[in-house]
Amino acid sequence: MPGFTVAIVGRPNVGKSTLFNRLLEQRKAIVDDVSGVTRDRQYGIADWNGKTFNVIDTGGFVAGSDDVFEREIRKQVKIAMQEANVVIFMCDVTTGITDLDAEVADLLRRSSKPVYLAVNKVDNHERQLEATEFYSLGFENVFFLSSMSGSGTGELLDEIAALIPEDEQASAEDEGIPKIAIIGQPNVGKSSLLNALVGEERNIVSDIAGTTRDTIHTRYNLFQKDFILIDTAGIRRKNKVHEDLEFYSVIRAIKALDEADICLLLLDAEKGIAAQDLSIFSLAARKGKGLVIMVNKWDLVEKQTNTARDYEKQLKERLAPFTDVPIIFGSVTEKQRIFKTVETALEVYENRQRKVPTSKLNDVMLKAIESYHPPVVRGTAIKIKYVTQLPTQTPAFAFFANLPDDIKTPYRNYLENKLRENFNFTGVPVRIFFRKK
Ligand code: GDP
Ligand code: GDP
Repeated sequence: MPGFTVAIVGRPNVGKSTLFNRLLEQRKAIVDDVSGVTRDRQYGIADWNGKTFNVIDTGGFVAGSDDVFEREIRKQVKIAMQEANVVIFMCDVTTGITDLDAEVADLLRRSSKPVYLAVNKVDNHERQLEATEFYSLGFENVFFLSSMSGSGTGELLDEIAALIPEDEQASAEDEGIPKIAIIGQPNVGKSSLLNALVGEERNIVSDIAGTTRDTIHTRYNLFQKDFILIDTAGIRRKNKVHEDLEFYSVIRAIKALDEADICLLLLDAEKGIAAQDLSIFSLAARKGKGLVIMVNKWDLVEKQTNTARDYEKQLKERLAPFTDVPIIFGSVTEKQRIFKTVETALEVYENRQRKVPTSKLNDVMLKAIESYHPPVVRGTAIKIKYVTQLPTQTPAFAFFANLPDDIKTPYRNYLENKLRENFNFTGVPVRIFFRKK
């Protein structure tokens, strides 16, 4: 299910981020540096039993008076209850049940979402006995665990993964229609872009409810093509959510991404690309989504001969290693290159669908391998004999070799570049696997 989200809530120092890191293993998290009383909040993707889901560590709090603490915790718990599918409520056996725990428990008991009480730091048998006091909080699902050692975390994850439906069927009404998510920081011009598309063409077919209620899907027909734009901008306005805008906008961007085939990342030309944009960019790439970048408000930039070229070069340095991405300079308010942007996103969609016939693939790639062999390992030549594209949603290729585990990243990158040179995968993350032949 796209966008299944698990939030971890609880007092500071109970071990939320320790659990979070364990769930993510080596995967990189998005860190949202929220200023003020809140410690960094983290977002990431976890895999368990073949299910993939988003995880949010709602963070902790730096110093502050007790009532600031309480207010912040309440706010986070409320947002988590609204935005997540499942809440993990973490407590600490070494402190026992505190007043704040009891208060959070009160809030969570009113939630319609499943809540899993995780009593953490249960590192040994003695603590196991002490932990039974937490049953008094009245939750049905109680787990005793040690995030540090990992004991008990598997059982918790088994239960949560069981709640995630198998890959859901695409709804009949939008089957096969490209879905483009418009993503970007507040004020980059997302709403203006949507309005411009509406105003110019009046070709909106219908508004369709998103998979989650946090996104709006609007179906368009332009250039004789149907597509759906997924937007999160409007909703924020409607809900008049002022508190913790950042939290909402990141969660919603992640959800919009999950529902989309293509991520159209809008940047503000004057501000350039921020850490948060880069996080979204790499998250989209890891989720196998197509990517297009529009540098908006280009009208505000003073231009000389090579301004766009230099800007693009600098931007690509930040995007590395995935740089085969279209970058469009435009202005929504001046109506410059708006349609070009949508057209490009649709081209990326085509690229993402591309299936290279096996014979052609082998012709091209075996030649490339012939002209530049993988390095010899322990006196043995690595031989790649055959390559095939896997029947996956996003392009993935399996290279069959005698020593698949000994092929290193530089050679992998060489193969990816050759694939990109010969077949158009612009804007599309490409996966490469080596298998034993
Ligand atoms: P957060 O503020 O809730 O995110 O808590 P952290 O994950 O930062 O953990 C707070 C402290 O508790 C750190 O010193 C952790 O090493 C420690 N901790 C986390 N999990 C466990 C555990 O399972 N057992 C023990 N003994 N300590 C833990
Ligand atoms: P959102 O928060 O991403 O939806 O951004 P908005 O669409 O609300 O735009 C924020 C502000 O930027 C508004 O005042 C827009 O008029 C302005 N804006 C949007 N696109 C452009 C552009 O291409 N050039 C200039 N100069 N301003 C723009």
